[in-house]
Order: sequence, then C-alpha cells, then structure tokens
Amino acid sequence: MDQPAVRVEDLAKRYGDVVALDGVTFDVAPATVFGLLGPNGAGKTTAVRILTSLLRPDRGHAEVLGIDVAKHPDRVRGVIGLAGQYAAVDENLTARENLQLVGRLTNLPKTARDRAASELLERFMLTSAADRLVRTYSGGMRRRLDLAAALVHNPTVLFLDEPTTGLDPQGRAELWRVIEGLVATGTTVLLTTQYLEEADRLADQIVVIDHGQVIASGTAEDLKTQLGATVIEVSLSDDASLDLIKTQLATVGPLSIAGQDVNIAVTDGTAAMFQTVQILTAASISPTKLTLREPSLDDVFLALTGHAAETAPATDDATVAKTGKRRR
Ligand code: ATP
Repeated sequence: MDQPAVRVEDLAKRYGDVVALDGVTFDVAPATVFGLLGPNGAGKTTAVRILTSLLRPDRGHAEVLGIDVAKHPDRVRGVIGLAGQYAAVDENLTARENLQLVGRLTNLPKTARDRAASELLERFMLTSAADRLVRTYSGGMRRRLDLAAALVHNPTVLFLDEPTTGLDPQGRAELWRVIEGLVATGTTVLLTTQYLEEADRLADQIVVIDHGQVIASGTAEDLKTQLGATVIEVSLSDDASLDLIKTQLATVGPLSIAGQDVNIAVTDGTAAMFQTVQILTAASISPTKLTLREPSLDDVFLALTGHAAETAPATDDATVAKTGKRRR
C-alpha cells in the first residue's frame, strides 16, 4: 500500500473501568471505503473520536495522511471531515446558511464559501430546499446536509460515524450513492456501521470490533468465507419442536436462533443437510422450511460477536448456541 490514509496502531482507551478500545490496529488505503463494524458499545465512536483529534488515547498511535493526530491535531482537522450519527446542523438556519457558517468557521473566503455551498447543495439534492429552515427537513435531508457540511473545506479523509442509522431504505440508498461518488473522486472514507448490508455494499476492507478488540478483518467475501461455505435454514412450527432438537442440531454446526428459525453454519452442505434431515425425521418433526443458502455478512457477525447486528445484545428472541471455535 502507498502511505495509508489512516494508520492506527495499538490504540487503547478506557473510561474509568470501561475498556472502550483495547489494542486496535489497522490501516486504511487511500481512496477506499473502510468499514469499522461492531455492535453497540464495541468502541467504534471512541476510535473515530481519537482519529478526529476529539479524544486522546491512553496508548497507541494514530496518523491521518502521515500526520500524527496527537501531536498535530490542528493539521489533522484541516484535512478531515466528520459527520456523525446525529445531524449536527442548526435547525433554525437554512441549509445554505448552515454551509456558509461552516465555511466561515473553516476560514474560507466569502466567494469560496458561497461557491462551495451552492455546489454541495446541488450535489446533495438540496438545491430546491436550500433556503428553507432545516427544521422543516426530513431525516434523510438533514443527514445529507450534515454530510455536505463535513465537505465544505474539501477534506481528503472523511469520517462517518453511523451515517445512515435511522434513515429509511431510500435515504440510506441515496447516501450510499453519495459516498460512492466521493470515493470515486479520491476521498478516503472511514465509516462505522452496525449494518452489514452497508459494509457489504460500500466497504473495500472491513474490521470487525467487539469489546474494543479487532475480532476479524478482511473484505466482505473474506469474512463470509471464514464462516463456512453454506448456511442451512430450518424453520419450525413451534417452540416445543425447537426445544426437542436444538441440542442435536448444534452437532451439525454452530447455531443461531431467532424465534423458531434456526440457522446452521456448515462447511459440507450436502452431508450437513442429510444429517439435519435425519435429526428431524428421528424426532418426527416436519419443518415449515428447510433450505441451503450462501452465508451473509449477518451470519458472520452473529457467529463472531454472539449477537445479531442492528440489535442490542442478544435477547431470548435472538440467542446463539455457540459451539466453541468462535471467538479468536
Ligand atoms: P454505539 O454504536 O452504541 O455508538 P460504539 O461502538 O460507538 O457504540 P463507543 O461509543 O465507542 O462504542 O463506546 C465504547 C464503550 O465505552 C461503551 O461501553 C460505552 O458505554 C463506553 N463509553 C463511551 N463513552 C464513554 C464516556 N464518555 N464515559 C464512560 N463510558 C463511555
């Protein structure tokens, strides 16, 4: 790799007794999307806050474009943009006024900030609403404006902390297109997400963190391959059937259970399917569904972290029967 756009080495941070980051190391290649994936509380926001100079680590080293974040926070702020989960725009200004304000704060001359505001409003499909107060905007429009605000000073590296959380599918798809456009023109994007679909669609490289540690890394394809070749999906008609055969199904492969639906991660699909059918037959249980499919990133996440993505830690409705070998 050329000089990485972002370099993180052995980053650690505690808040009192809470270990938020515990020795995280990764590099981000220039003009790519890097996905920092993890459940609630994994340490994603803490990593972004350290990389954007808002928080000092207890240990470790972070660089953006070769600039040491701890030693030169002002220089780093000049080359990065940050957009967060909660749109940080002023509701009582118009979109144009918000962007012009950011331009003033980043010391752009008036003509440059007027031009940047107009260009960004156009790019983010906000021109027709540009002179309306932001408090009349939809969630998706606010999020696009928040992202536009992070781009006023034309940053080379953009940090997006859960950029699409809370957006509807259309808003999410629009933001994805915008992010892809930015990367195509040379911007490096580091985004945190709990959405596997988002990481799968956008990220060239993914690092999965949980409890402040890296538990897996690679491309989406690499991560899926790690899990095994195939997933068997078994749907049962009642809880009693599930209770009866749960332990036996766990001998086929690692299980994840949501309600009466059971997913089994397996390597040899045909043999595992045969074994599953034998278990069902011996217990005289007819499943409502029994299929083989390719693994998704959701399966990977569940297997690695012990709970589903896009939810709080596992509840009774989404429990995982782990059969060793999961955590590294
Ligand atoms: P989320 O998706 O919920 O935002 P996250 O992966 O971004 O989660 P962080 O916000 O980095 O995780 O939090 C990591 C851990 O540190 C969590 O256990 C969190 O409760 C804790 N934490 C974060 N900020 C503070 C703070 N200011 N004081 C104490 N604990 C904190």
